[in-house]
Amino acid sequence: MRRFTIVGGGQSGLMVAIGLLKAGHQVRVVQNRTGEEIANGKVLSSQCMFSNSVQHERDLGIDFWSDSCPPVQGINFIVPHPEKPGEKLIDWTGKLDKNAYAVDQRVKMPRWLEEFQKLGGQLVIKDAGIAELETFAREDDLVIVASGKGEIGQLFTRDPDRSPFDKPQRALALTYVTGMTPRAPHSAVEFNLIPGVGEYFVFPSLTTTGPCEIMVLEGIPGGPMDCWADVKTPEQHLEKSLWVLKTFLPWEYERSKGCELTDPNGILAGRFPPTVRHPVATLPSGRKVLGLGDAVCLNDPITGQGSNNASKAAAVYLQCILSHGERAYDEAFMRATFERFWDYAQWVVRWTNMMLQPPPPFVLEIMGTACAVPELAQRMANAFDDPRDFFPWFADPDAAGAYLADLRKAA
Ligand SMILES: Cc1cc2nc3c(=O)[nH]c(=O)nc-3n(C[C@H](O)[C@H](O)[C@H](O)COP(=O)(O)OP(=O)(O)OC[C@H]3O[C@@H](n4cnc5c(N)ncnc54)[C@H](O)[C@@H]3O)c2cc1C
Repeated sequence: MRRFTIVGGGQSGLMVAIGLLKAGHQVRVVQNRTGEEIANGKVLSSQCMFSNSVQHERDLGIDFWSDSCPPVQGINFIVPHPEKPGEKLIDWTGKLDKNAYAVDQRVKMPRWLEEFQKLGGQLVIKDAGIAELETFAREDDLVIVASGKGEIGQLFTRDPDRSPFDKPQRALALTYVTGMTPRAPHSAVEFNLIPGVGEYFVFPSLTTTGPCEIMVLEGIPGGPMDCWADVKTPEQHLEKSLWVLKTFLPWEYERSKGCELTDPNGILAGRFPPTVRHPVATLPSGRKVLGLGDAVCLNDPITGQGSNNASKAAAVYLQCILSHGERAYDEAFMRATFERFWDYAQWVVRWTNMMLQPPPPFVLEIMGTACAVPELAQRMANAFDDPRDFFPWFADPDAAGAYLADLRKAA
């Protein structure tokens, strides 16, 4: 039995914590908000998780919601027509091979915290700082910092080679609603890209009050969707969300005009720069701690990959820790563990950062071709579950040209 402390009881931290407990180890989770505070607080994310990520939760026996959460069954990508208001220039749908699910973290995390304690884990409710990390690192075999966007994560220095942006790329907002007309013939992430303005996506979810839809609004900074500064109340937040739809996406407005907020806390607005950090931090004593999840690999939500990454990172870290035997979890182990995750995550980060840029002509051609070639639409939809499948053809004009020519020949 070895001793672990995990700072941050969120998507990645709790998965690792529960996995280590189930493998017979002693685990302490240090979390700055109780389950009750999380359940009664503001929404944190839109957390749409694709099949591979949900499978890691199932493997740990902690997917408690696939039967009750309305599934996300596809991806519908839409670009409005620039000259014909109300018409769509690009509109394709790819069915997911397996459902995705977006369980509100206000539902999930309190349940997981409870499960962690039921399995014998030690939960400490505390906002951990350097002094606490020193204590944990002295007492335990390994300390993992999975603090999401929490300030303590700044202990890990930014990796400029892996972080092309030093400023937020989108003004973000979430609006959790009920009363939206369901999408036919099946549910999907409806992903609307409004060139020069931003993105809007919407999909079903399970929240504290039952099934709902989550609106995610991503505004290019300084543009018309960067519009949250003077919004003061939940009612104004909903009103502003509907204004965006009415102005830029009338088909979405039609589905949504009768919506109500799920609850006064079903809203969020903010922004942050996507940042990859060095995965090992050195405490004043010289002891090392290992970063996990958003603390060291923070993506813009534009591609909906953060919780997916957190789950996949947790699975990689667990495997590395458990196969390390009796050896020390030293700096070399920490770096190697992160690099194993980075083998995968680098593709997610590249694709996500590409989506934050205006699409180059060859990407528009890919998106346009998918309207007529269902195989391509389906491949792109399923690549949300494993973004490595976007490469090289989504990043390189020559590879794209060759791939599209093959598809057209076969069609
Ligand atoms: C607007 C928005 C939309 C999103 N949509 C999606 C989506 O559709 N799909 C998707 O996959 N991802 C999405 N994400 C991202 C996803 O929510 C995160 O990537 C994911 O939750 C990260 O997991 P984590 O374990 O790293 O951190 P978190 O889940 O954030 O957990 C960190 C925990 O650590 C605690 N903590 C912080 N500091 C301390 C401290 N000093 N001491 C103790 N505890 C501390 C926090 O309170 C929190 O409970 C979205 C994010 C945003 C902002």
